[in-house]
Amino acid sequence: MKLYGGIEAGGTKFVCIIGRNPEEIIAEERFPTTNPTETISRAIEFFKPYRDRNELEAVGIGSFGPVDLKKDSPHYGFITSTPKPGWRNVDLLGEIERGLSIPVTFDTDVNAAAYGEHYWVVENSHMDPFIYVTIGTGIGVGVIINGALLHGLVHTEAGHMFIPHDLTKDPFPGMCPFHGDCWEGLATGIAMNERWKKRPETLPNDHQAWDLETDYTAYALVNLIYAYSPTRIILGGGVSQHPTFHADVREKILKINNRYLQSNMILNDIDNFILPPALGNRSGGLGAIAMAIEMNKDK
Ligand code: ZN
Repeated sequence: MKLYGGIEAGGTKFVCIIGRNPEEIIAEERFPTTNPTETISRAIEFFKPYRDRNELEAVGIGSFGPVDLKKDSPHYGFITSTPKPGWRNVDLLGEIERGLSIPVTFDTDVNAAAYGEHYWVVENSHMDPFIYVTIGTGIGVGVIINGALLHGLVHTEAGHMFIPHDLTKDPFPGMCPFHGDCWEGLATGIAMNERWKKRPETLPNDHQAWDLETDYTAYALVNLIYAYSPTRIILGGGVSQHPTFHADVREKILKINNRYLQSNMILNDIDNFILPPALGNRSGGLGAIAMAIEMNKDK
């Protein structure tokens, strides 16, 4: 049986996985994202022995961005206007394709993780529309509609949506270089660190930080619920691992909704409507593998 490769190319680390499904992972390596030459070579070296033995069928990449996803664009598969030093206009897809000489498919890191959670988790695979949200060093949202990732004009950037910002309660101006106090500008782990001068995981449970953080997340999720009418939302990322995060966000969503949207799923079963990722920190890598499997089927 053939093997598939998945790369979760994150802004801070790369995760490379070889396998067939979540139960059959043959090899896995995590390493920091340094400069493009060194990082991409390391990824190629990881897959090369399997490629040389003719075992590796295809590779999927979920990359940090922004990226060019237009298949007819000369820059398809490039990382484009990223602020990350050295990574602007890097042909990530092309480098991996040339390095391994096998089919490679490409999407954003968030979309790959969304795809993985939808593809591999049995209950989720019946859910449509399906939304995956990650809150960590950035905020990303992946949307699956009619079984496929939503791309459109470029790709969704719902992490940059605008949410109510009460300056009397939170005078922090936000730190998105483009918008200031958009959701990502207010609520990433980096914004929390900057606001409180403490790493989020060191902030105690009763710290005001968590009240703000769950407020912002609840408003953003209500916007997503109203916009896409999802049947399930997966809420992941480092910040969401705070022990009472999911419970607090669910409670605030019910409050903000104020029984406006009359769905049994929201009103009576919200614990099964908003869930943490089932694949843990492998959503992206396993999603990239799923992308590679599906691309191969189309051949
Ligand atoms: Zn923004």
